[in-house]
Amino acid sequence: MPELPEIQAHAERLERDFRGRELRAFKPLSFTALKTFSPAADLAYGTVLDRVGHRGKYLVLEFAQVRFVVHLMQGGRLKPDEKQSAKPRGGLARWVFDDGPALLLTEAGTEKKAGVWVLDAAADLSPATTVEPFVGLGPDAESVTLEQLAAILAAHSMRLHGLLRDQRALAGLGRRLANEICHRAKLSPFANAAKLTADDAARLFDAIHACVAESLDYERSRADMSSSKERPGAVHHREGELCPVCGDTIRAVEYVRYTVNYCATCQTGGKVLADNTTSKFLK
Ligand SMILES: [Zn+2]
Repeated sequence: MPELPEIQAHAERLERDFRGRELRAFKPLSFTALKTFSPAADLAYGTVLDRVGHRGKYLVLEFAQVRFVVHLMQGGRLKPDEKQSAKPRGGLARWVFDDGPALLLTEAGTEKKAGVWVLDAAADLSPATTVEPFVGLGPDAESVTLEQLAAILAAHSMRLHGLLRDQRALAGLGRRLANEICHRAKLSPFANAAKLTADDAARLFDAIHACVAESLDYERSRADMSSSKERPGAVHHREGELCPVCGDTIRAVEYVRYTVNYCATCQTGGKVLADNTTSKFLK
């Protein structure tokens, strides 16, 4: 799944290509695509796209009166659409502008989970909001402060890797960045977040910002969103390769839906992690 850097760079690309264009119509192409009834999408008709931003892993397209919020999930893509064919492959929704290409939301595969929410332009997107789909979403990882991060850690007696991936704690990070951030911070992915020291929290804070910034630089260098295999990193999906910091072999703990990659020398004092705990961690 694209994480915060991929989403942010894509938002910048869309804003560059579509800002100032007048919306003529918004057309759901699948009955599962639109997740809200009100406000109506046509409040944006005849107005221009002012900005494309993001909140966590959600893209946010801002018009004067409404915002379109788009979640790509695993296989969703939001791209310029020159052809505007009647039944685009995997098509979920289309934004038609006064001239030039439309914007098309597609999703690969049969599991349709990507979607669009139409919100009032003044809707609260902060962690305190009562507006879906943002209810309970933590602060964005790239703008979290050290004080906020320390409070989040202290409040969660759970494995650090799981906490970093928990959108309710910190928004925007996923499996890849959780691996990279733990490695960068020299912290065990299985460390109990609530037991980290102030020094650990400071290293984690620096690692979050450094890893997000590096990935963002890479994504900004591209014409389109990268695939997960292309994204740079020191440990993610590099089991058996050598740690670029110390030369030890990168190890893995496999789960059903993701893999924890780490360097024992850098992160666990040489201890090899094995998952011999119960199924509550198998998520
Ligand atoms: Zn290492």
